[in-house]
Amino acid sequence: MGTHPESCDLLIRNGYVVTMDNGRRVFPAGAVAVNEKRIVAVGPEREVAAAWRGHRVIDAGGAPVHPGLIDGHYHVTMHGTRGAMSDDPAKPALGGAGGVSPYGQWFNAMTAEDEFASAQHASLEMLANGYTCFLEAGTVFDTDAVAEAVEGVGIRAVLGDPFLWDLTGGMAMASELDRAPVDLARCLSAIGRECRRNDDPDALVRGHIAVYGSGTASDELLLAGKEAADRHGVVLNQHQSLAPGGVAREDERLGRHPFVHFAELGLLADNTTYVHLNVLREDEVEAIAGSGMSAVWHPANYQFYAIGTAIPPRIPELHGRGVNVALGSDIAKLWTIGEGPLIGYLLAREWGGYLTAEAMFEMQTRAAARAAGLADRIGSLEVGKRADIVIRSRALGESHPGLNPVQEMVLVGRTKTVDTVIVDGETVLRGGRSVRVDEGAVHAASRASARRLAEITGQSPGTIWPETA
Ligand SMILES: [Zn+2]
Repeated sequence: MGTHPESCDLLIRNGYVVTMDNGRRVFPAGAVAVNEKRIVAVGPEREVAAAWRGHRVIDAGGAPVHPGLIDGHYHVTMHGTRGAMSDDPAKPALGGAGGVSPYGQWFNAMTAEDEFASAQHASLEMLANGYTCFLEAGTVFDTDAVAEAVEGVGIRAVLGDPFLWDLTGGMAMASELDRAPVDLARCLSAIGRECRRNDDPDALVRGHIAVYGSGTASDELLLAGKEAADRHGVVLNQHQSLAPGGVAREDERLGRHPFVHFAELGLLADNTTYVHLNVLREDEVEAIAGSGMSAVWHPANYQFYAIGTAIPPRIPELHGRGVNVALGSDIAKLWTIGEGPLIGYLLAREWGGYLTAEAMFEMQTRAAARAAGLADRIGSLEVGKRADIVIRSRALGESHPGLNPVQEMVLVGRTKTVDTVIVDGETVLRGGRSVRVDEGAVHAASRASARRLAEITGQSPGTIWPETA
């Protein structure tokens, strides 16, 4: 140790630093030092500032400083469907009587430009809400267009090969997409292609194995997915057990409950991530607990699809039993990205459970990093990790009186107080605005794309009130 401070690119000082490290340490008068793309020091400001001199210094004004948030499941090309798909449960967007479902039509009508526009809009909205990474659901056709959009905004994404499915009968949409036929041979030739992105250790957009799931994959496809995930060192990710109807069909096809089946196939492991898990029976809870798998929870979708009229939520219990639970937004249709913690907290309470604000925050950070297969690089503020950092503001009333800054931030202020976001050591959001893209242009492109797609697909969105010219 020399007596003079070493220089680094950036020193963030005067922060209430929430590290999310193994000890969940918090430094109320903390600092973070960043050099190039990585964190080089985290701790009490008196120690960090004595050891490091930043070329650039950001004064956090006493506000929380924490790792970038991570969305565990997002359909990034469906962001433009907001307002197009009806919020009326009598008009289901995922299918219903006859014809191609509204989502199916939308997927069929999208061009690469539409996917780019939606991904840019979604990424920008994520960034403004303190999100620096998301795990895509494997529902992008033109992954290069989406990668370009995401990288332009300056956040991370983990993409999958498009629509890997080989069974009909599990879900209507699986037989609706012109460009993604239900076909094992197609899937086996595509599987793992997105993992080529991981050859570049600095890639912001990486690849993983996404099988669509929810009864649309044969055992052969799932086992091929697991083998590919093991070989590439990534996660295998799929939808599972969204709603009672689909799960009943799977029970019948498999002759047992889906998670019991997956456990016997060896598909519940440290590198497998399942999304939804709204419908779980006792034997499935037992199979999941202790398996090492990750669960991605959409508490808003559990409510939106009225699952509670059929079966209680089991995720709070899984969390209590040590299962790695992350939050995902799926499609931010009636909510925006970052509202999961409040919704999840209240959902647990409604059923007599209790998840702390800290638990909800963990689901947005280190647990989500693990669910995305990136626990070694993001999800906490620790020396050696990538510098994905959010700096809050104390300008809003929701940041006060400051007796419990974590609870204020996670449940009360939520993402309103996000001020500055740093990804891979680079400031990409300052004062709540992107420093990389023209926000007006991004929004204009998304509006034009959504309007065109709504027209092609025959959606007639709009308020139920008369709009008078
Ligand atoms: Zn989904």
